[in-house]
Amino acid sequence: MQYRRLGRAGLKVSELSFGSWVTYGKQLNDDLARECMTAAYEAGVNFFDNAEVYARGQSETIMGSVLKKVGWRRSSYAVSTKFFWGINKGVNEQNTLNRKYLMQAIDGSLARLQLDFVDLIFCHRPDPETPVEETVWAMHDIVRSGKALYWGTSEWSADEIRTAWEIADKHHLHKPVMEQPQYHLLHRNRVEQEYAPLYRDLGLGTTTWSPLASGLLTGKYNDAVPEGSRATLAGMEWLRSSILDPRGIEKARKLAKIASDLGVPMAQLAIAWCLKNPHVSTVILGASRVSQVHENLGALAVVPKLTADVMAAIDAACAD
Ligand code: NDP
Repeated sequence: MQYRRLGRAGLKVSELSFGSWVTYGKQLNDDLARECMTAAYEAGVNFFDNAEVYARGQSETIMGSVLKKVGWRRSSYAVSTKFFWGINKGVNEQNTLNRKYLMQAIDGSLARLQLDFVDLIFCHRPDPETPVEETVWAMHDIVRSGKALYWGTSEWSADEIRTAWEIADKHHLHKPVMEQPQYHLLHRNRVEQEYAPLYRDLGLGTTTWSPLASGLLTGKYNDAVPEGSRATLAGMEWLRSSILDPRGIEKARKLAKIASDLGVPMAQLAIAWCLKNPHVSTVILGASRVSQVHENLGALAVVPKLTADVMAAIDAACAD
């Protein structure tokens, strides 16, 4: 495992990390989550991603109980959480980044995670109904309080990130240091084009999500929809059409041929491709079973196989 700086921040994150969206609570109970996290940690993963909203807090509860059981040195790993959607229905408890919500949400997350602090906190989406200045001050205050160490954004536009950064800079506050964007072979423009000036000007780091496009880029949907896969899960109907989009499947079939010519699983090809981008600080993996964690970590060995010719073939396979 290699470690990359989180943008301009001093924190070093493993280039592959592990997240808990969908799986914790729905597919993984405490024991399976512990097996997956242990497999990742033993391979050098030092960052575990979470969010308040995942399984309405249950994902944090599961991760907290795993961390307590395994007893790893707290300084050897980083944990994140994210705020926006909330887990309660009150007017100041959901779909907001207002100060009241944020200052209370962090306490709920820490209690569920059984931690004194989290390493990274993210504003999970932008909130058009709260002044950015209010959010920036609240995130700064959480960091100042020691309940979190770094803060950032998820799926904010480049303009929104720059505005937040400039407010923090002007008032000498803790600045947003990282963004968590979707990034994979079929979804690349924002990370590659829109954010490009932010890497240069602000030293933005990225913790990227869904490297396998929810499983589509493993090739498992190329011929049929496997029973028990994400596309079949209750509550995931909204995602099913994008996983099974015929244009995506067609590209996945072409990618499968490239992977097979290289002699590697397609999942490893797709993850290794994300790692080739130096602006990616860490690729957050998702897995519903331990064998997937092992297979996906194998992507590290595939990076050197992605020569310029292979990268060009991949681009051609993914072209519209
Ligand atoms: P992926 O796109 O990699 O999808 C992971 C899913 O694909 C697994 O749960 C599994 O689903 C399937 N899969 C994984 N590996 C394999 C394999 N080798 N063979 C076959 N199937 C496989 O990542 P996620 O969408 O899970 O995102 C990763 C993390 O990113 C999340 O856990 C979360 O922490 C973060 N995230 C952040 C978001 C944000 O808004 N900030 C949004 C989404 C994710 P199954 O077996 O059920 O088919």
